[in-house]
Amino acid sequence: MFEGGCHCGAIRYALSAAPTGSMICHCATCRRISGAPIVAWISIDPDAFAITKGKPTHYASSPGISRQFCGACGAQLTYARDDDDSFLDVATATLDDPNAFPPTHHSWLSDDLAWVEFGDGLPTFPKGRYDRD
Ligand SMILES: [Zn+2]
Ligand SMILES: [Zn+2]
Repeated sequence: MFEGGCHCGAIRYALSAAPTGSMICHCATCRRISGAPIVAWISIDPDAFAITKGKPTHYASSPGISRQFCGACGAQLTYARDDDDSFLDVATATLDDPNAFPPTHHSWLSDDLAWVEFGDGLPTFPKGRYDRD
């Protein structure tokens, strides 16, 4: 069991299974929504994700894309596609232990900021590795 939540503590969640993926997204949408140059995500089975405290706010960042936030502190928590219920992405940095699931690759380098550079040697992809980002 892994737990996480937003910054202010109004929203808490629990994962009942380990993630199936872990990556860092460089896309312009994640950037603008989070106010950060990149956002790290883990992918999990949606059935393994449960909100245990509070009620997140939903935002459709693109048609068919739903992101959940804390309405109080603004922390971005999840990303989901209406047309694919096989996975849910959870913002890695909202986990109580973000070190538990290190990323395996970088996605959407096509949107990358010129001054974002990583020396981690992980694979990079111009768009989504699984073409679903
Ligand atoms: Zn909050
Ligand atoms: Zn993104």
